[in-house]
Amino acid sequence: MGNTTKKICVAGSLNVDLTLRLERFHQPGETVIAKSIHTYAGGKGGNQGVAVAKLGHPVMMVGMLGEDDNGRFYRDTLKKNGVDAECVGSAPNTPSGTAVIEVDDRGENRIAIIPGTNGLVNNAYMDSVMERMLTCDIFMLQYEIDLATDAYLAKILHDAGKQLILDPAPAAPAPDGLYANIDFITPNATELATLTGAHVDSEEEVVRAAHMLLNRGVGAVIAKLGPKGCIYVDKETVVPVAGFCVETVDTTAAGDSFNAGFAVALAEGMQIRDALRLANAVGALSTTGAGAQSSMPTRAQVDAILSRS
Ligand code: ADP
Repeated sequence: MGNTTKKICVAGSLNVDLTLRLERFHQPGETVIAKSIHTYAGGKGGNQGVAVAKLGHPVMMVGMLGEDDNGRFYRDTLKKNGVDAECVGSAPNTPSGTAVIEVDDRGENRIAIIPGTNGLVNNAYMDSVMERMLTCDIFMLQYEIDLATDAYLAKILHDAGKQLILDPAPAAPAPDGLYANIDFITPNATELATLTGAHVDSEEEVVRAAHMLLNRGVGAVIAKLGPKGCIYVDKETVVPVAGFCVETVDTTAAGDSFNAGFAVALAEGMQIRDALRLANAVGALSTTGAGAQSSMPTRAQVDAILSRS
């Protein structure tokens, strides 16, 4: 039987998030008692990989972890979720990427990031796993590893005829040549405004800003617009797709979940409007529970909301 489903690869960051809840942020020199501490697997790369796996689609992760407790914790998380972690390298003398996150009672946060082993995901590392990467068809990139490596990788993959989805987050100017190798770029509204310098509020403004990115060489822009859903823009068409109305608890990693849904839909050969509807469903469902990876939906949950609305 011919199985035409395409394989997805995520190349990017893996961070362990240490989340402290505090009544209020403290001053230099002051000690306070925190209310709780939790350890979560995070980082945009890992989030996107786990989100694809939770949807039941095969996914290969490319990244790097340290040989420390956080690294072991993350490896275990990838395994439990069914992510192929064979191309997640181990570095003996560098800590795993870590984010120390403080959240106060008002819901404000302060974050300190130790890139750690994410800083070792460089061109040489990509070369070392390239043969296995090239067994995949659809690639998901973000901006939490060295952007020059994203650009290096994108060129090789594009030249090899692969499809590339770039999440330009956290927003940064693109290195030379990157955009021309990208099929789909997926900024949220804030990122779209930062990348273009344009005011992005109304649908017309989103489309105008998206055209600025098209003129820089990307194949298509998918602007993620929170509860409003998303708008797809390429040189010929504009496709707005409304979001799903859900009871939102925590929007962490909604964008990563959306991207995973879109990649899976693309892998299944869906038309753009259906693909975006599925992506909106995955993004919306991910906001209905607390945390990043723990609230990512299964395919059955996605199919249920799709058939209801
Ligand atoms: P990011 O998480 O990158 O900031 P968004 O907030 O735009 O990006 O969320 C990504 C996608 O998740 C949206 O395009 C939408 O499909 C879905 N989504 C996010 N927030 C909500 C919400 N409150 N209600 C319904 N869907 C949402």
